[in-house]
Amino acid sequence: MPTFHKIRFTTAEHVAVALSVSREAKLLCKKVVSFFHLLARSCDTGVRRLGVTQELLSLVTGLAHYLKLIIRICLQGSLRLEKEKDIDEGLNFLLTNINGLDDRLAHESSVDQAAEAAVYCRKKADTCPVCNEPVEDKCFKQADRIIHMQCLRCHNCGVDLSDKLPHARWAPGTRIILCSNCAAHRLVDSQGGFSEVTRLAQYVHLLKCAHARLLATLRSSGALPHTSGTLRSKYGLSTC
Ligand SMILES: [Zn+2]
Ligand SMILES: [Zn+2]
Repeated sequence: MPTFHKIRFTTAEHVAVALSVSREAKLLCKKVVSFFHLLARSCDTGVRRLGVTQELLSLVTGLAHYLKLIIRICLQGSLRLEKEKDIDEGLNFLLTNINGLDDRLAHESSVDQAAEAAVYCRKKADTCPVCNEPVEDKCFKQADRIIHMQCLRCHNCGVDLSDKLPHARWAPGTRIILCSNCAAHRLVDSQGGFSEVTRLAQYVHLLKCAHARLLATLRSSGALPHTSGTLRSKYGLSTC
């Protein structure tokens, strides 16, 4: 862990660069998803006890490595902030934020888990409706759809809508994206409400999808009890 006296910065830009964790967050996300796949696979093959294999060891080592990197970057960033701005609240602010996770966990445990799982299990939860490919990075959101940055174009005139979000429309009847001009011209029913999803928010979303699918797989194989007797039939989780 770097010590405080070794940290030297001159501009706020350096602080911003130092706090960039997108690469580590992406790799951590991939490791967690791979870990979930390994668990699901061991369940598929009927192996109830996950043996200590080379693959598992390498995954756990990778998880620990990227977690440590992210913790280090956050601690370094808060210390740099204190040094740079000559304030003494940087570290406290970080720790208070981390403590706030308890409240979020308590809130999440109070929501309807089965309904949540059903939302994250559906293919459209991480698939772009325009190209039908998975969305793994910064993207756009409209209602419960996620759309690649490069796919946010008018289906009719081809205009790029990625920097004109208020003009983007989703036509539910034909399941296409239109610009507001073309939607008005075609007189089709259309919806707005597009917003940007940050890279980090999308990684969190992908983890929730992977987690929900893992639980569904474990439940359908009998490795985990169903939280509700009607869970599978109600939400079709076994087909996820
Ligand atoms: Zn797409
Ligand atoms: Zn158009």
